Amino acid sequence: MPDLSTRPHASPTCSPHDDDKFHEECGVFGVWNANDASALTALGLHALQHRGQEAAGIVSLDEGGLFHAHKGQGLVGDNFSDAKVMGLLRGRAALGHNRYATTGETALRNVQPLYADFAFGGFAVAHNGNLTNAHVLRRNLVNRGCLFQSTTDSECFIHLIAISLYSTVVDRLIDALRQVQGAYSLVALHNGALIGARDPLGVRPLVLGRLGGGEAGPTWVLSSETCALDIVGAEFVRDIDPGEIIVIDNQGVHSIKPFGKHQSRFCIFEYIYFARPDSIVEGTPVYETRKRIGVELARESHVPADVVVPVPDSGVPAAMGYAVEAGIPFELGIIRNHYVGRTFIEPTDNIRNLGVKLKHSANRPMLEGRRVVLVDDSIVRGTTSRKIVEMVRAAGAKEVHMRISSPPTTHSCYYGIDTPERGKLMAAQHDLAEMASIIGVDSLAFISLDGLYRALGKPGRDVAKPAYCDACFTGDYAIALTDQQDNSEKQLSLLQASQ
Ligand code: SF4
Repeated sequence: MPDLSTRPHASPTCSPHDDDKFHEECGVFGVWNANDASALTALGLHALQHRGQEAAGIVSLDEGGLFHAHKGQGLVGDNFSDAKVMGLLRGRAALGHNRYATTGETALRNVQPLYADFAFGGFAVAHNGNLTNAHVLRRNLVNRGCLFQSTTDSECFIHLIAISLYSTVVDRLIDALRQVQGAYSLVALHNGALIGARDPLGVRPLVLGRLGGGEAGPTWVLSSETCALDIVGAEFVRDIDPGEIIVIDNQGVHSIKPFGKHQSRFCIFEYIYFARPDSIVEGTPVYETRKRIGVELARESHVPADVVVPVPDSGVPAAMGYAVEAGIPFELGIIRNHYVGRTFIEPTDNIRNLGVKLKHSANRPMLEGRRVVLVDDSIVRGTTSRKIVEMVRAAGAKEVHMRISSPPTTHSCYYGIDTPERGKLMAAQHDLAEMASIIGVDSLAFISLDGLYRALGKPGRDVAKPAYCDACFTGDYAIALTDQQDNSEKQLSLLQASQ
């Protein structure tokens, strides 16, 4: 759900709160048939907070067919802990959204769910992902007279539904989805149903859960991750299939697959970093996968050392796997301060560097005089890694070896993850030896692509038919980058015109 106002051609951009990580851009959650649908949604969003911390919103639908909405900047707890607010969000159905703003544009009009009144009634939608033809679509829609209220790509869904010639809401939605390109997991709510949909390659996650089932029938839940089912006590039913549309109404759950069968290309980075470790993603537990990645990493790039230290928190499971496989003690040699608010870190280089020290501290007795293997999940710009290595050396480490549980990130993501431009990705600009020297380590190694696939239970990466999206490691973009192409063509014609 990127912001198009300052992201002119859906280019990956650096977050104003960039702390040298890729960032998931959104989490979605929907509830059908519950007395306290909005409260359950607020809890679900709270469990999905890691997918977006800049803003949150909930839209509910009451039994009289009226929609109620509350949205605000900040965390879920900042917006939905007031009983008065929750009291206004009446109804037995609700949907919610956590937003990660990709640029400085954090206007309330961009906070989801988006809502519109149509001839068929109200319609609210929340989207996780990124449309790669949003600019081209938007230009065409504006030419046809559509008036955009926000600067997010997600509003394209609303206008495409509005101008569709089909009569039912679901047919209009299918018509809209046929025209969009990109990655999307979305949850929508209208007077008759809660709807979930995933793009034909299933790049972003979406799961179905079920709660209770007394006289009033079961409560159905749609969520970005299973960790949010757990918090509301819902049982996991299944993943929504790539290209599937799920319609939940008072008759039950109906599945529609209008886009044919495609090879799934689920985002492999969800396993490495984005998803919460207690989630089960596409049938695979994230925590165990991260440990297995650490095992593969130790097999591929063992180095004699005295201690394995994770860069907390995301490096912890991989470091545990590495330590067990390598037979080297695991210690928490770096302690993370959990009370550093994101807003505390301003987007200037000076403060960003200071931010690293605010977030992490060296646990000196675990590091002093030792050969240390530092395990982290990724290197994006390398600024954080360099600071952490400096800190570990200052605490007396004799040697510092860095092991990374993802392959080098050499390309930007256009499918819903906030990434710096390619020119700012360290691995796109430097070879391994240069990176090791810049970061200041005695040795540096990344897991191989095949090693990553092995950790996911595959024999390796099938080049002809990769099982996952891994474009940020390979440049193999499975979904057309139409806006990028459009932008390049425009720049070329401008260049030619000026010659
Ligand atoms: Fe995930 Fe990378 Fe693909 Fe983006 S490019 S969807 S981060 S694997």
